[in-house]
Amino acid sequence: MTGTAGGAAAPQPSGAPGPTVADVLVLGGGPAGRALAAACAEAGLRTLLADPAPERAWTATYCAWPEELPPHLPATTVAARPEAVAVLPGGGTRALGPYAVLDTAGLRAHLDARLAGVTVLPGRAAGDDVRPDGHRYRVRLRVPGDRGGDGGSSGGSSDTAPRNDATQVVDAALVVDATGAPSRLRPGLAGGTEQTAWGVVVDERAAAPVVRPGEAVFMDWRSPGPHRPGWTDWPTFLYAVPYGDGTVLLEETSLARRPGLPLPELRDRLTARLAGAGVTVPDGAPVERVRFPVDTPRGPRHPVGFGAATPLVHPATGFSVAPALGLAPRLAAELARYLPHDPAAATTAARRLLWPRSARAVHRLRRHGLRTVLEMPPHLVPDFFDAFFAGRSGRAFLTGRDDLTGTLAGMAGVFRAAPPAVRTRMLRSAAAFHPNGR
Ligand SMILES: Cc1cc2nc3c(=O)[nH]c(=O)nc-3n(C[C@H](O)[C@H](O)[C@H](O)COP(=O)(O)OP(=O)(O)OC[C@H]3O[C@@H](n4cnc5c(N)ncnc54)[C@H](O)[C@@H]3O)c2cc1C
Repeated sequence: MTGTAGGAAAPQPSGAPGPTVADVLVLGGGPAGRALAAACAEAGLRTLLADPAPERAWTATYCAWPEELPPHLPATTVAARPEAVAVLPGGGTRALGPYAVLDTAGLRAHLDARLAGVTVLPGRAAGDDVRPDGHRYRVRLRVPGDRGGDGGSSGGSSDTAPRNDATQVVDAALVVDATGAPSRLRPGLAGGTEQTAWGVVVDERAAAPVVRPGEAVFMDWRSPGPHRPGWTDWPTFLYAVPYGDGTVLLEETSLARRPGLPLPELRDRLTARLAGAGVTVPDGAPVERVRFPVDTPRGPRHPVGFGAATPLVHPATGFSVAPALGLAPRLAAELARYLPHDPAAATTAARRLLWPRSARAVHRLRRHGLRTVLEMPPHLVPDFFDAFFAGRSGRAFLTGRDDLTGTLAGMAGVFRAAPPAVRTRMLRSAAAFHPNGR
């Protein structure tokens, strides 16, 4: 798929002087970057998409709240539509409503099929490589080359030899940073707040003791088993989702911690939990490892951030894929109103669309909610989530990135349902809330 198609920006022939010219350069070919690049080309913009490994397959299990998915996503992109439940520390359950498990390969195929009008280049850019040039950008893409080597006795290149990277210069009216979280153009501080998880894929019949057919367990707050030496006191939960093909993912999850709970501890807790529940995990069962930041402040105006880089990430769930898929065509339409002639107006329009006042307020409240959990004594965290799922209000907090009313109602509902000790902590955290934080 690498190369040029349709009316896309044409790279210079090899050896020719001068940069490749485009209206939009999207850096990062994850779900957000691919969806946006496709939509930009469909909106008539000369579009380049650059990623260090544009052909690399995606392996993460992406899930979403269905109301956040774009309405016309083809059925091939969704693997299962279970009902989500939460399991409380004492074993009772709460119904959370519809859930969607995306078909990662199906989503990728759908987005790739729409890249026909996009020039896809293998290459990466660092912050220093993206330079304003008048009203446009000049971007130096580093294109991964072969490993060097002396061609000596081994007869080939070595993994330690320096790579012969090439560079390609792009002249773009607008650059989009869709390089994920932390943004590779503005790397975050090490040791930030991270979600971490360790999962295994097993047959759904084997998983029956912890997840029923037709259900997804969004959080099971029952203890994974007696505390073992070396484990932290930070509480974790089981996340269990069906793939729609007779298998399920069972994942021990630390929603957020600074720094992220180590994966070996999550693996051990999962092993203990599943053994205690009577779930046998066969040798060689596929594994999913999760580690990504959830509490990223909003990015700068330039270059325009999109996807996890901006960040569209919900700090309490880590979800950003559905909002990115939904926003991509709307953002592309805004950019196409002004590009290529007025990049400044396009940047302003992008900021307005992605971060209206309501979305900024919701983002601050979500980050505040996350801080409340992080500051909660570990033994109260399951009680907090018991209150969180007591009514429908929790779901309102989890969805609707510009729904300020729903978010506030969700937070108020949690407070009302919380036991006194949790309320006290919520009030203490509210007293430290900075309404103008990013
Ligand atoms: C195992 C796992 C499970 C997850 N589950 C969910 C889920 O259920 N729901 C959900 O919404 N989110 C989930 N997430 C979070 C998920 O990572 C993000 O929501 C999603 O991948 C963000 O998409 P993105 O396109 O913004 O960024 P990414 O998917 O991170 O894509 C960024 C792309 O940029 C490229 N890139 C990196 N550096 C550069 C550079 N310097 N120049 C150019 N390109 C660059 C990378 O190669 C990559 O292809 C999960 C994450 C993991 C790891």
